[in-house]
Amino acid sequence: MQKENINKSSSNPLSFGEGWGEAIRADFPILQREVYGKPLIYLDNAATTQKPRSVVESINHEYYSVNANVHRGVHFLSQQATELHEASREAVRRFINAKSTNEIVFTRGTTESINLLAFSFGEAFLAEGDEVIISTMEHHSNIVPWQLLAARKGVAIKVIPINDKGELLIDEYKTLFSERTKLVSIVHVSNVLGTINPIKEIVQIAHAHEVPVLIDGAQSVPHIPVDVQELDVDFYAFSAHKIYGPTGIGVLYGKEKWLDALPPYQGGGEMIQTVTFEKTTFNELPFKFEAGTPDYIGTTALAKALEYVNAIGLKNIAEYEHELTQYATQQLKQIDKLRIFGEAEHKSSVISFLVGDIHHFDMGTLLDRLGIAVRTGHHCAQPLMQRMGVEGTVRASFAFYNTKEEVDFLAAGIERVAKMF
Ligand code: PMP
Repeated sequence: MQKENINKSSSNPLSFGEGWGEAIRADFPILQREVYGKPLIYLDNAATTQKPRSVVESINHEYYSVNANVHRGVHFLSQQATELHEASREAVRRFINAKSTNEIVFTRGTTESINLLAFSFGEAFLAEGDEVIISTMEHHSNIVPWQLLAARKGVAIKVIPINDKGELLIDEYKTLFSERTKLVSIVHVSNVLGTINPIKEIVQIAHAHEVPVLIDGAQSVPHIPVDVQELDVDFYAFSAHKIYGPTGIGVLYGKEKWLDALPPYQGGGEMIQTVTFEKTTFNELPFKFEAGTPDYIGTTALAKALEYVNAIGLKNIAEYEHELTQYATQQLKQIDKLRIFGEAEHKSSVISFLVGDIHHFDMGTLLDRLGIAVRTGHHCAQPLMQRMGVEGTVRASFAFYNTKEEVDFLAAGIERVAKMF
């Protein structure tokens, strides 16, 4: 039985045999805590994940021992901090298999990555009457930036419908293209339905119309291997805090040819080459898009998180989470009057549900009293809620540190709450 703390043996990945769960859980101190005198069962991983020790320790270590502003510093600490920061960019590049670190832009998160692109791409390539394609299952952060752009520029938004299982209707998608279509922006994995969208096919169809594609990878990068070259996506966005890293850091991947063609999003330090009052020239990629002091402590901690995930292996994670989600689905389906929203053939580790006419907020609040953390509400996907004909759902979302025992607690908890109504 492997019991060693993974941080002490990150070059020696744990096998997913008996006991791996305990060893992994030991790396996440928060999982040992209690709430209301009961063991915490944390099933809100789609909102944010917990952090392994190595990530938290990296933040402490860098503030205590290396802290200095990055880039252009002549002194020792600044150079060391810069090296760490740029090594993190390389770690991200490798993680998603981008061609070059020039293609990795650090942002505050998925939301800022999408806003950056909506602004810059909108400025460069969109005019009144042009069209952007999104889908019914988008998070608000992949809807509202396009609406802001629509209001600014008179751009139209077209929406791919879904079927009742929560899958995109690809034939309908094909019909949405016109000569005015300029961009497709689609979520890889739905944060409500768990649907894993067929990104390769979506990209191929868009490219056949010479339209680039942005993928919202907030819920995919933590759960399934992502290779941006293999998918041939033009842009890809994700957040560090959903992949066991710190809050306030995210990534926008963009093919170099596209990023080169786009104007800066924000102005300030770091993103310039020369400034005079008459004319300013911009820095090279990726710095052109990184105005101001970056969160270099956060990027180092993100690299630590990726190291942790690599040590376990995303293939192992995907397999384990798939098994856990299937088990949870079976358990939950046995509960009287429980309805699951999202039954796509290809599904990630999210289960949205309602029981009879029990309000999602009541279910979530009462589960919380049992120590079970789930999310309730519209999950920042109100148009999807409208499509499903509900106001909100309860959502349990799993990570590799969750266990079948926790799923059993969830199922028993739901039944207990249901009996109270
Ligand atoms: N897209 C999806 C699919 C998400 O689940 C989330 C987070 N709930 C976001 C975008 C936004 O991510 P962030 O808040 O980290 O910017």
